[in-house]
Amino acid sequence: MITHDTEVLVAGLGPVGATAALSLARQGINVTAVEPLVSSAHDLRASTYHAPTLEILDDLGAADTLFSQGLKAPVYQYRDRQTGEVFSFDLGEIADRTRFPYRIQCEQHRVTSNIVDQLKQQSSATVLQGQRVLFVEQHEDHVIAYVENANAVERWRARYLVAADGASSVVRKVLGLQFPGFTYDEKFVCFSTEHPIEEAFDNLSYVNYISDPREWMVVLRVPGLWRVLVPAPLDLTDDQLVSDDYKNDVFGRMLGRDLQIVTRHRTIYRAHQRVCERFAVGHILLVGDAAHLNSPMGGFGMNSGIHDAVNASEKLVKILRHGADGAAQVALYERQRQTITRDFVQAQTIENTRLMRDGWANARAQRSEAMTRLVNDAEARRAYLLKQSMFTSLDQAAAIS
Ligand SMILES: Cc1cc2nc3c(=O)[nH]c(=O)nc-3n(C[C@H](O)[C@H](O)[C@H](O)COP(=O)(O)OP(=O)(O)OC[C@H]3O[C@@H](n4cnc5c(N)ncnc54)[C@H](O)[C@@H]3O)c2cc1C
Repeated sequence: MITHDTEVLVAGLGPVGATAALSLARQGINVTAVEPLVSSAHDLRASTYHAPTLEILDDLGAADTLFSQGLKAPVYQYRDRQTGEVFSFDLGEIADRTRFPYRIQCEQHRVTSNIVDQLKQQSSATVLQGQRVLFVEQHEDHVIAYVENANAVERWRARYLVAADGASSVVRKVLGLQFPGFTYDEKFVCFSTEHPIEEAFDNLSYVNYISDPREWMVVLRVPGLWRVLVPAPLDLTDDQLVSDDYKNDVFGRMLGRDLQIVTRHRTIYRAHQRVCERFAVGHILLVGDAAHLNSPMGGFGMNSGIHDAVNASEKLVKILRHGADGAAQVALYERQRQTITRDFVQAQTIENTRLMRDGWANARAQRSEAMTRLVNDAEARRAYLLKQSMFTSLDQAAAIS
């Protein structure tokens, strides 16, 4: 069997693996990235890029698509569909903390393709698309990955392996790691449409969390489309959830009349809250969905994965270029990112999802009161904006030694 050598092998070129690989390559590390797909998956997943993630991608020279095609969303809103109350939060208030005081709304596949294009231009990077990691073996000072291409299985010997191979990570499974947590009972349905939904609302922003005891929804704008995410009724089958009848019901309730809206996508998702028991084992570091899954309420999944990616690559550069102790750096990566995943990403997305699912319905008055207090208290509002835009979690991770 042919054996190749590389310093770091990255399994998976989703947004997280692509960021890890580009960050390493830009710092002169010899990196090989393996991805089964020949181009980025065009599914409807992440669309929100928070300010720290914009800074990371801009620093890597991989934010062109975000800034040229994405939509700036300085304001996001919590709306109550029944009372009409609107609570707005303006990221312009943290302009002293970031050069990008807004979210950018852009589909993840557009941005990922741009990062992969940049990666391909790096002389220290090798990109193997149409190939997959089948198996990994840990040795004392290196990892062997078995990589399948169209004709053969070849061995790649790497000093370190970054597992960015997504929710069903083969690397995590080969390592025999547990992925404890839970899966929400109900599914979510995401519709996308070119219909000008904004005409039915007063001053709708690009990011809206709309509460309703009967049917809450998240309404997001991406270039050329509105995306509408709703919880699926438990008694409907998947066929019924993507039927015209259900689609017309959802939009009919939302817009007040049946307009026979034409949709571009109708996608069913399950949401999970899971954290892998280890984020690093020996010479393998797990990042992104391979290490943690959370509900999409708040837009933290991909963003926190990108934060894992840069943290992991910083540690690998220290080991491979500056002689830092490998075991200590890898352990520090695990402590910083696993702690933040548990204490912030999981806790906040569970809370955000609870508020959307039942908190609002059962405790609307308290919710409205709490939101009013927050909106009217400048200090609390700033702390809230820094937390929801993920600056606080990055500061907390950096403080963990
Ligand atoms: C409806 C919805 C909305 C969301 N919205 C947001 C949002 O607004 N903001 C946010 O931050 N997050 C959001 N997320 C979460 C976000 O989509 C994920 O967290 C993100 O895609 C994780 O990126 P990743 O690179 O870790 O994994 P993935 O994107 O899953 O990429 C994994 C890659 O690994 C490859 N791979 C698989 N097996 C192998 C193998 N054996 N060898 C090599 N490669 C392999 C896959 O082909 C894939 O390209 C949303 C998710 C959903 C479902």
